[in-house]
Amino acid sequence: MQLQMYTLASGSSGNCVLLSYGESHLLVDAGISCRKITTRLGTLGLTPGDLDGLLVTHTHADHICGLNVLCKRWPVPIYASGETCADLARRVPSLAEGDTLHSLIPGEPVQLGEISAQSFATPHDAPGSVGYLFSAGGKRAAVVTDLGYLAPTVSDALTQVDLALVEANHDVDWLRTGPYPYYLQERVLGKYGHLSNEACGELSVRLARSGASTLVLAHLSQENNTPQRAKETVSHMLESAGCGGVQLYVAPRDELSQAYCV
Ligand SMILES: [Zn+2]
Ligand SMILES: [Zn+2]
Repeated sequence: MQLQMYTLASGSSGNCVLLSYGESHLLVDAGISCRKITTRLGTLGLTPGDLDGLLVTHTHADHICGLNVLCKRWPVPIYASGETCADLARRVPSLAEGDTLHSLIPGEPVQLGEISAQSFATPHDAPGSVGYLFSAGGKRAAVVTDLGYLAPTVSDALTQVDLALVEANHDVDWLRTGPYPYYLQERVLGKYGHLSNEACGELSVRLARSGASTLVLAHLSQENNTPQRAKETVSHMLESAGCGGVQLYVAPRDELSQAYCV
């Protein structure tokens, strides 16, 4: 049996990732409408009722905007950091009451169906922001988006990962010369912003050297990046580091991806 990952959407207009192992299914973030989530899960023969849990990385709209309607219709248990849970209870009306919110402590695994999940803190401008590490059947997968730089909490967590979804948000030169106002450029480039293609390349080399066979570039900026540019930059860095054998993909922006399996 394989550990499988799909993206239902990826980018600043919405993020949603599915992890599956056998009959166990987890969603990371619900940053697209409940309708799109339901339709895209339906393509795979699933409904939100099949989910063993929904793990939230942080409370930016591109990660939670479908959560309210989804949780109104489906009793899916939600997992997030303590700070994110507190924020969700305030901002998502359908989560204000009831017992669907469960807070996770970074580094402490929780068993959800046949998949073990744990969080690690990420440097980003949302309090309690995290990435996730999953393991099942002896394989490990990670979701690492929305981070300003490769903080030690991130690199320490990401050892011996077989499959990783990693942020390749922008090309630094394109961001500097592109349409974003100066304050927004500073936000994106800052320690609590987003990973550039080049920083993603560094992370990819690190992951490949510790055993990753499959990497998926994600959360690309629509204005300051293209799938071609991100893939070129990262694959060049991987090849220069002697890691050219890694399978490299780019997650599509607003449609269900192919399956990424290990
Ligand atoms: Zn964010
Ligand atoms: Zn985001």
